[in-house]
Amino acid sequence: MDISRRQFFRVSSAGLIGSSIVALGFSPTAALAEARNFKLARTTETRNTCPYCSVGCGVIMYSLGDKAKNVVSDILHIEGDADHPVNRGTLCPKGAGLLDFVHSPNRLKYPEVREAGSTEWKRIGWNEALDRIAKLLKADRDANFVEKTADGLTVNRWLTTGMLAASASSNEAGYITHKVARSWGLLAFDNQARV
Ligand code: SF4
Repeated sequence: MDISRRQFFRVSSAGLIGSSIVALGFSPTAALAEARNFKLARTTETRNTCPYCSVGCGVIMYSLGDKAKNVVSDILHIEGDADHPVNRGTLCPKGAGLLDFVHSPNRLKYPEVREAGSTEWKRIGWNEALDRIAKLLKADRDANFVEKTADGLTVNRWLTTGMLAASASSNEAGYITHKVARSWGLLAFDNQARV
């Protein structure tokens, strides 16, 4: 293609101006990226408590999905809850990595049981798990509840079973859990706040 001296300088100067603008940060790629939608704009916010330790920091989980039947929500972002009185939006490194915990292939999502003598864990349903726990608790309490000591002192205690509760429970859940455990006569009752 023939090109005159004047045309050559015009094309060169246009190219120089374009590359200078990019060098100054006016890249069209960056400008297009800026115009993308905010990734949390169409998400549902759910408040929750970090499950790791007894500090009980508040978190907000952002999930996609319209909550319609048969639609499985997908949590895509978790951050500290700025309105929570415990952590006021902050999270320690463990809490900041909660998204990996949520999506971990090793996460236990269902009740499992390992029968006596077996080396295998077997998945069971929630109703079966609750029935099983209730039956085993009752059988052990019936067999081992101590109403009076040998010298006639009333103690009403049950020492062969213990309960480990969650320190991140609400006041109400913690109060009821404590009342239930003590009404059974359980003395071994604790939570991970002391770990
Ligand atoms: S974010 Fe850290 S300090 Fe807060 S509850 Fe979770 S593990 Fe504990």
